[in-house]
Amino acid sequence: MEEKVKSFTELGVCEDLVEACVRLGWTVPTKIQADSIPHALEGKDIIGLAQTGSGKTGAFALPIIQALLDAKSPQPFFGCVLSPTRELAIQIAEQFEALGASIGLRTAVLVGGVDINQQQIALAKRPHIIVGTPGRLMDHLSNTKGFSLRTLKYLVLDEADRLLNEDFEKALDDILKVIPLERRTYLFSATMTKKVKKLQRACLRNPVKVEAASKYSTVDTLKQEYLFLPSKYKDCYLVYVLMELSGSTMVFTRTCEVANLLALMLRNLGLRAVPINGKMTQAKRLGALNKFKAGECSILTCTDVASRGLDIPSVDMVINYDIPANSKDYIHRVGRTARAGRSGVAISLVNQYELEWFIQIENLIGKKLPKYAAEEEEVLLLLERVTEAKRISQMKMKESGGKKRKGMGDDDGEDIQKYLRKDNKNGNTSKRSKR
Ligand code: AMP
Repeated sequence: MEEKVKSFTELGVCEDLVEACVRLGWTVPTKIQADSIPHALEGKDIIGLAQTGSGKTGAFALPIIQALLDAKSPQPFFGCVLSPTRELAIQIAEQFEALGASIGLRTAVLVGGVDINQQQIALAKRPHIIVGTPGRLMDHLSNTKGFSLRTLKYLVLDEADRLLNEDFEKALDDILKVIPLERRTYLFSATMTKKVKKLQRACLRNPVKVEAASKYSTVDTLKQEYLFLPSKYKDCYLVYVLMELSGSTMVFTRTCEVANLLALMLRNLGLRAVPINGKMTQAKRLGALNKFKAGECSILTCTDVASRGLDIPSVDMVINYDIPANSKDYIHRVGRTARAGRSGVAISLVNQYELEWFIQIENLIGKKLPKYAAEEEEVLLLLERVTEAKRISQMKMKESGGKKRKGMGDDDGEDIQKYLRKDNKNGNTSKRSKR
């Protein structure tokens, strides 16, 4: 017999917060929320195996806000969420604010790449919830007068596997030393690595383990296909697929340079693309993301920095321009589409050198993927235009690299944005493009 899906009220969520959920369009709890919220409300520590897209932010935010409401007296610095990236931190804070809007919940985001004085001003307002990356949070704990987490009641380690990958270990250790032992801790991670297990032992007490989905599976509403192609025609196949299938698309590449080059090349072909990668300044990354979210650009070319944690609800398609050598990255990338019950498409462009990695991916997800139907003859009709667009883009990138060496340019991201703006002024040159 199928288990009946419980409502937020049945999980023990209070009326104010159920109303807040309804305002956000959350009528039914997601699996991770249904499985973890009752334990969290009982005061247990939680380990959640869940990815972005599963509704995990709600799973930890709702019990924390409910405890804050129960506390009655003002409780500054009540909860702290640690996140591996700036973008994810901002999104988490946004969800806290949206859920706590009617009760005057205040948050502060402490991330690198942003003016430290502004963050100090935000801390002076004594927010209830701090969301930050470990390095910047530790920086404030050491240097911002009057700020401490001695009254902290809730700690969340979000994307713990990634927090540890990105060498936040030292900062994490330091933070754990200066916060109260008497607290609740929630640890969320997409995968359970050895390091995460060690962290779990170090900072959780008798935790309840909840899992959103079976390990490494991809959702049924996701249509996954691949194209096997010679490496010299990869760009051509990319453009072909982008022109065949419309909708918002994330194109994943291995390096920042390729993400930038592809965005330029696609722009030259009249497609509305924008790059996002770890080498861009924070302002440019957010700018690019907002353009994509607002639908101004329908293609986001990105490195794996963008594959985790970003909440972009409306991605229709993920294209793996480069096949990831680490199969788990595939799961994170394609997890950008087909979210919350919606459908989505993931297409992997596999060349002769990447076949082994692709087979590893099929083994990990436990299924053989079908081929995307494309006639090479038709694809190669684009070859001349694509080659020319790429040549022009490479020239522009070289030029911007030269300027930088002479001390005239900004960082890669800013340079590329300048070119993209110029290209935009030149208008759409593509006749075939449906975008
Ligand atoms: P997360 O995994 O926390 O990043 O959430 C992914 C997306 O799902 C966000 O856009 C949330 O607003 C949305 N979401 C979270 N919980 C629910 C729910 N119970 N029903 C519908 N959407 C939800």
